Amino acid sequence: MAAASAGLDRTAAPTLRVDGARLWGSLMAMAEIGATAKGGSCRLALSDEDREGRDLFRRWAEEAGCSIVIDSMGNIFARRAGRDASAAPVATGSHLDTQPTGGKFDGVYGVLAGLEVIRRLNELGIETDAPIEAIVWTNEEGARFAPSMIGSGVFAGVFDQAEAYATRDLDGKSLGEELARVGYRGEEPCGAHPIGAFFEAHIEQGPVLEAEGRTIGAVVGAQGMNWYDVELSGAEAHAGTTPMARRRDAYLAAARVADRLAAIAHAHGPHGVATVGQVQVFPNSRNTVPGRVAFSVDLRHPEADALAAMEAAMARALAEICDPVGIERRIERISAEAPIGFDPDCVEAVRAAAQALGFEPKEMVSGAGHDACFLASVAPTGMIFVPCADGISHNEVESATPEDLAAGASVLLNAMLERAGRAA
Ligand SMILES: [Zn+2]
Repeated sequence: MAAASAGLDRTAAPTLRVDGARLWGSLMAMAEIGATAKGGSCRLALSDEDREGRDLFRRWAEEAGCSIVIDSMGNIFARRAGRDASAAPVATGSHLDTQPTGGKFDGVYGVLAGLEVIRRLNELGIETDAPIEAIVWTNEEGARFAPSMIGSGVFAGVFDQAEAYATRDLDGKSLGEELARVGYRGEEPCGAHPIGAFFEAHIEQGPVLEAEGRTIGAVVGAQGMNWYDVELSGAEAHAGTTPMARRRDAYLAAARVADRLAAIAHAHGPHGVATVGQVQVFPNSRNTVPGRVAFSVDLRHPEADALAAMEAAMARALAEICDPVGIERRIERISAEAPIGFDPDCVEAVRAAAQALGFEPKEMVSGAGHDACFLASVAPTGMIFVPCADGISHNEVESATPEDLAAGASVLLNAMLERAGRAA
């Protein structure tokens, strides 16, 4: 139904394109704030530089005719009015804060692509039924204040605002105090703002689109992630006098488990991944057979069933490897983040907009956390990825082409317009 009506809309109205040069100019101007020696930006959340970036966005949005609302977590909502003032806005956005040695595009692109959508709609004189909003989410990076994505997390009810306010940076300054200091502790209670649908445009931060020569990723969701602590206990023994057949070598068992985990991930490919990243061997002596090993396991997959199957396969592998040789095993799941599936209609809007612009979008799963992941629990949500050079991000050399950034913003424009409805 949705696809059919979108198709009719597209024949009725030509596919729109943003002004890529203007978008690029805005990105470069924003990058000047907190510019670093190697061509990146440093705007830590709620620093003076972050305030300056926010002020610039706000000025640009007001010049584009937007009204501004700031909520109690400092999230900024820039609204372009629609014909139906009571309709929940079709929103987009991301973050302006960066890593200490951040790039010009991570987050910033999503915010300024939203601004460019608004500027272009103004230029074309297009009125939408629902309002259009560009949003800046506070402290996405988590570099200054942990956890990351705190502004969208409080908005979605995942984090408690009082706890978020109490979070302190390394200098002991709290997030709540710093919000007030920079003038962005707003009146609207965080989470009260209605959102009809949310789209986030972002650089991929991975190598897939570039490697496949594709321009647009239609993101269908974000992978689930489970963390485990595993401890294997055998027996310490003399490395010279203990025959191999009599050993209960905890490290050897751990190594076999790590090898099996890689096989389990491959069996759930291409999206399944498994990592043993931390290993502690006891007593860690070169001439003692290790009696005890503690290690971490990180399992990820975009589908809950597959993630559960990977966990079950890991448990079987542990039993098969440890039990015959008398090694005791203990496994504890210390955290579980469920996979996120974006809204099928929003994903379809992205796909249809990309195709109308002449791109064959790549269906993708996000490997990184984004504000959109939290928004997905409170509003229909979709994401658009564009390539970045060598997949490098969280780095001053982070790079994307003006053409790809413009293409992603044009997809955003058409997807949002389809969702907001064009007033006749
Ligand atoms: Zn980001």
